[in-house]
Amino acid sequence: MYRDVIVIGAGPAGMSAAIRARRPKTFDYLPSDALIFEEGDAGGLSSWKETYFTSPGWSYKRDELRNMLLSEMDRYCVELRNERVISAELRSKVKRIITDKGEYEALAVIIATGMRNGANEWKYFGKGLYATLRSVDIIKRTYFEICNNHERIVFIGSERMDLTLSLWDEVCDKEPIVFVEDENNRVVEIFGEGRVEGLRVSKDGKIEEIKADAVIVDFESYMLRPTTQVFDVETENGFIKVDRLGRTNIPGVFAAGDIVGPPFSVAKAVGEGVVAGIEAYRYAYEMKFKKEAPAFAFYPLEGKDGLILPDIPESEDDWFIRAVDRNRCERYPFMKHGITYKEFKGHFSNPEDEFRSMLKSYSISVRPPI
Ligand SMILES: Cc1cc2nc3c(=O)[nH]c(=O)nc-3n(C[C@H](O)[C@H](O)[C@H](O)COP(=O)(O)OP(=O)(O)OC[C@H]3O[C@@H](n4cnc5c(N)ncnc54)[C@H](O)[C@@H]3O)c2cc1C
Repeated sequence: MYRDVIVIGAGPAGMSAAIRARRPKTFDYLPSDALIFEEGDAGGLSSWKETYFTSPGWSYKRDELRNMLLSEMDRYCVELRNERVISAELRSKVKRIITDKGEYEALAVIIATGMRNGANEWKYFGKGLYATLRSVDIIKRTYFEICNNHERIVFIGSERMDLTLSLWDEVCDKEPIVFVEDENNRVVEIFGEGRVEGLRVSKDGKIEEIKADAVIVDFESYMLRPTTQVFDVETENGFIKVDRLGRTNIPGVFAAGDIVGPPFSVAKAVGEGVVAGIEAYRYAYEMKFKKEAPAFAFYPLEGKDGLILPDIPESEDDWFIRAVDRNRCERYPFMKHGITYKEFKGHFSNPEDEFRSMLKSYSISVRPPI
């Protein structure tokens, strides 16, 4: 299965990127299509609690931002697949993405995996699950409370947990269980009836259960060393190196959000996602039609009068067509996952008119053979 743009990670960066890659400008009538992979629950870290976009005066209730972005993804037929991306071949013209459930192809890829993979921790935040995200004094105070109120305490973090653990030793003499996440070891889920009772972890592919009544996720350590950077792209201190347009060192591969480094904020993640989404659209367009996407007045365009509207291309039998808005997806389910123009013709009595009107209404994406 192929898509023009594949996004890895459905946090604020990935969801914003996918929507923008799919729909960069209303007046452009050659949309691209986007697919997004998420191994946990959509929303990423923004689902954990109320999010200050800038400050308390501009904030989103828990789940509010996530639901807004999900609803836009639904409107524009951006498909969300609950799959974990395990590897990717990114250097070829057509990129290959391998997940725990299948293999996919894309012209452009956006990596938006955040600083750690997410399971279902957000459901237990404040119910036996804690995070280290504040000043040292507050962290110490929290440790003191945890020490007094819990018996089986588990720390989760990256290999840079040294600072957190030394703070813990200053405050509490209970020995915690320490689980270090890396490429081969990760938390799969937290469990418990309304409160933390333990966690399931994957250790070199084998699932184990750890009983706990308190789990502390050490974000400080992920900020020093993210555990979601598993792709063969250039990095700096464990974070993916990008330029101002979200481009990595590999053409057609972009990155956005926490995985490109500090500061760690939802507003930054959304902004970078939008930029990377637009750039991925441009890149895929050029791959498909061998020219600059005409939707952006701010990029150099051929012609004397500035903006040039795209020609409606002449379709050919082997062109691939996919419905990319909700109405079209619902009305013509056979176009949801894509068909060739040859198959398209079989469904309509006046296929050429139908094809042109759909292109103009911005509701299908097309892809000539690459
Ligand atoms: C408790 C807490 C409170 C916060 N409060 C605020 C706040 O008030 N204001 C603010 O601006 N910021 C806040 N932040 C930070 C903010 O939430 C993050 O900066 C933001 O969510 C980053 O977005 P992202 O999309 O880059 O990454 P994430 O939100 O981390 O999303 C990345 C997603 O990618 C998925 N993923 C990773 N690897 C894979 C893979 N291989 N395959 C498939 N999926 C994968 C993960 O499961 C995750 O869902 C807070 C964070 C926490 C933890």
